Amino acid sequence: MKVDLSSVIKVTGAEVKLSSTVGFGDAEFLGETYRFIEPLKVEGRVYNNGQSLTLEANVSGRMVTECARCLDEVEADVEFSVHELLSQREEGADEDEDIILFDGYEIELDDIIADHFLMNISGRYLCSDDCKGLCPVCGQNLNHGECDCDNEYIDPRWQALADIMNQTKE
Ligand SMILES: [Zn+2]
Ligand SMILES: [Zn+2]
Repeated sequence: MKVDLSSVIKVTGAEVKLSSTVGFGDAEFLGETYRFIEPLKVEGRVYNNGQSLTLEANVSGRMVTECARCLDEVEADVEFSVHELLSQREEGADEDEDIILFDGYEIELDDIIADHFLMNISGRYLCSDDCKGLCPVCGQNLNHGECDCDNEYIDPRWQALADIMNQTKE
């Protein structure tokens, strides 16, 4: 989503309204997959307050991801806001990491929106609050029925920790 800022760059008080959609492909982040059911809706503005250009936008949509416990599909709302300072890149000017620079008179918002999406997802979507998760032995989805595994099973990673605790006690 490219936005033409030529009408606001040098005019204090001017603004460009944003009302558009951005389509993203499936995103993978920290082992989770996010599939957008529809393009994300972007509503907001870029405003010149005399000192800087400010991007303010609300982004919303629907997506499908995986339950953090049982890996079943979960449909969830996407809803977050974006607030950034923008500035035209100038030769020899100091770079400030709090300001997003753009070249010429146009700015591409897709990467900014994608970054905010990743900052805003909690990574803890559940199919239901009492999801029973997967059996750690056979991998069966326990929401769909019990398996015959020994449920005294301890995850080997916890077992290793327990061993260390026992050793330090001796
Ligand atoms: Zn689940
Ligand atoms: Zn099992």
